[in-house]
Amino acid sequence: MDTIAAIATGLTDSGIGIIRLSGPEAITIADRIFTPANRDTRLADLPGYRACFGRIIYDDTVYDEAIALVMRAPKTYTREDVVELNCHGGISVLKKVLELLISLGVRPAEPGEFTKRAFLNGRIDLAQAESVMDLIHAKNDMAIASSLKQLSGALGKTIRHLREKLLYNIAYIESALDDPENYSLDGFDEKLTQLVDKLSISIQSLLHSYDNGRLLTEGIRTVIVGKPNAGKSSVLNFLMGEERAIVTDIEGTTRDTLEETINVDGITLSVVDTAGIRETDNTVEKIGIEKALSSIEEADLILYIVDGTRPLDENDEEIMSKIKGKPSITLLNKNDQQLVVDKLSISEKIDTHFLEISALEHRGYEEFSSLLREMFFSNEVKSNSELMITSARHKALLSEALSSLDRVRESINAGMGEDFYTIDLMAAYASLGKILGEELEDDLVDKIFSEFCMGK
Ligand code: GDP
Repeated sequence: MDTIAAIATGLTDSGIGIIRLSGPEAITIADRIFTPANRDTRLADLPGYRACFGRIIYDDTVYDEAIALVMRAPKTYTREDVVELNCHGGISVLKKVLELLISLGVRPAEPGEFTKRAFLNGRIDLAQAESVMDLIHAKNDMAIASSLKQLSGALGKTIRHLREKLLYNIAYIESALDDPENYSLDGFDEKLTQLVDKLSISIQSLLHSYDNGRLLTEGIRTVIVGKPNAGKSSVLNFLMGEERAIVTDIEGTTRDTLEETINVDGITLSVVDTAGIRETDNTVEKIGIEKALSSIEEADLILYIVDGTRPLDENDEEIMSKIKGKPSITLLNKNDQQLVVDKLSISEKIDTHFLEISALEHRGYEEFSSLLREMFFSNEVKSNSELMITSARHKALLSEALSSLDRVRESINAGMGEDFYTIDLMAAYASLGKILGEELEDDLVDKIFSEFCMGK
């Protein structure tokens, strides 16, 4: 293994910037550029988990003041020797120090390479490694809790448990075929059917958790619809708490679609704000409308903004016909004024939840937030202790394993004989193993880690 280094903190000027080194030469090389304030000290003499203040100096050039953290293998993130240089957070300073390290033989790390080493050195399984990335990208409290759960190895534990059961039965069949005198296959079909059913249920429940998992990591795909001037932009601004969308009195000014991520008390909405849906000859606006319609198809939630001060018109009829059947919240906006819209005329057309709000006077946020919670997190997702899968890769592998188990069941029903069962049991075993990073081809591992941040 060579020694790698990267800037581990964000690439913007900040108070502190960290350069991380990992590998057999990490401490020796850090020693060459780092002069402790107490000149009698050397990093190489420090035990693990020690910090040392000093300066980064090489060839009489002073680069920065820094604190060096020495962590010794194997109790480190990568299981290798690790040094972290806490420098001042100027990007140019950090880049210069990194270049200096490279000139001394350190290799710049690939994105995710530190975590990859943690995986290759057996400190974490692949599902845990992937959760590190989820954690970094987590947009809200629930996503953080879910990735921390996976980081703790909970998914790996469940998968390992399933694999043990499979392996035991594969081994049993093999032994019975080799040594029929000592291992009996009487009644085995029945037992195996029961096991296959049980394992299938576990896998299915993990698969079901995927949609909730996606809602957590990517946010609830939300589309805002409503006729022109209903107050869509105002509602979006209100929910975001900032003036981002442009609000005007001229009809049809929200031309194209805007995409925003907003946090409503820990729940992430990934919002598509669309142009008012109505017939139009204006091409720019038309594009927005088409986008709005296709967004509706893919939405998890529709926010239907109704101008409560104006009677419903054909625009509203059109919108209702488009969003029919989708989970929706109808926001009767402008309740700072007299509301004239009759809820019944809406509820007889679409199945929806109603809230009266005023985007202008910022009324109704609490009610909106608790309705959201109720709709999406009531029983299933509320408990953070539930294990969820969030990765499309995991989903695909679990589906594969499930199909293999289906084939085992078919073979049993068709009376194919035990040696047939093992083929598909092995396939299920292998698919599950890939979640943990076993039996994965190297290039796939590389691909997974390449999606990581630099320095992680
Ligand atoms: P959009 O075309 O649906 O995006 O509507 P806008 O957000 O641009 O708002 C249209 C008009 O309605 C603007 O003049 C807003 O100031 C006004 N408006 C929006 N929300 C409210 C509200 O809650 N109360 C009142 N009185 N006016 C509002």
